[in-house]
Amino acid sequence: MIETSIAPQPGIMDIALYQAGAGHGLANAVKLSANENPLGPPPAAVEAILRAAGEVNRYPSSDHADLRRAVGEVHGLDPDRIICGAGSDEIISFLTQAYAGPGTEVLFTEHGFLMYRIAAQAAGAKPVCVPEHDRVTDIDALIAAATPATRLIFIANPNNPTGTMIGLPQLERLARAVPQAILVIDAAYSEYVEGYDGGAELAGRLPNVVMTRTFSKIYGLGGLRVGWAYGPRDIIDVLNRLRGPFNVSSLGLAAAEAAVRDRDWVARCRDETARLRASLAEALAAVGVPSDSSCANFILARFADRATAEACDAALQAEGLIVRQVAGYGLPHCLRMTIGSEAECRALGEAVARFMAGRR
Ligand code: PMP
Repeated sequence: MIETSIAPQPGIMDIALYQAGAGHGLANAVKLSANENPLGPPPAAVEAILRAAGEVNRYPSSDHADLRRAVGEVHGLDPDRIICGAGSDEIISFLTQAYAGPGTEVLFTEHGFLMYRIAAQAAGAKPVCVPEHDRVTDIDALIAAATPATRLIFIANPNNPTGTMIGLPQLERLARAVPQAILVIDAAYSEYVEGYDGGAELAGRLPNVVMTRTFSKIYGLGGLRVGWAYGPRDIIDVLNRLRGPFNVSSLGLAAAEAAVRDRDWVARCRDETARLRASLAEALAAVGVPSDSSCANFILARFADRATAEACDAALQAEGLIVRQVAGYGLPHCLRMTIGSEAECRALGEAVARFMAGRR
């Protein structure tokens, strides 16, 4: 075996590897571990992918002008204040590379998305995990935790994996109270909330708010890696300087442009998810498994303790149902369950019921 004696930058080996939801490529498994859309992308996006496939010998657009224009038209935003990334993950990395570093602090919430800590550590900044209140973001705790060294505050709203969210006036209060930092509103699941703009209006109005979005969730395009962000012009300019010229693939750009224009698809997926989420939550509650009211395409099921959650996970796996353990998010007694198709939700509810019945 060949081993290098060249050490990575300080702190890199402290980063815990991101463990993606299990089940990728498993034959005959029902994958409910990564908050994907069981309905897939809208048909127009698939057609766009096939059309774009004829030109994969060409590099993609480097300025993403067509996608930014489409997103701008659909959401009523200035395309010059939009940046596209290889998933919103990449934009999170751009933000930490640009604004965090040794001597600075990056705040995120107790049960927040794991990439915030990883991106902060990768940039050499100090990750600061701030307590939540009953699995809900606590604005006062964040304001209290901020210091002159705070440069970024990441809040997923709705949050993954809790599914809870807070109101925009509260986010505005935070942004105003901590002007030395950029508040990043991660709106990956915003399309699941009817009438919620994900923080776009706030990012349009305040100098220190950025909103990030993704095509991986309701648009069903996780495999193509497309995300975007909206914010003050100067921040977008900074992020563009870090961006590789061809960071989003031609297939991803074409698919995302078609997908964002299909508002009926979004509404249909949102309504279907809400209906199935309510019935799954009810089925779980009926067998003694509570969950918080979720605003996203998953449910955080709570068990008596870690051992019970792990035993339930094993029982589900034995039936080919793959959900997500969330001990890494500080929730070892919980399992996160993505809302799948109607049949998948029914199978999941029945399997949890069988598991709980077996414990009585
Ligand atoms: N933010 C949150 C809150 C997420 O749950 C995810 C996906 N797990 C992402 C960002 C990243 O999404 P993507 O990189 O696929 O756009």
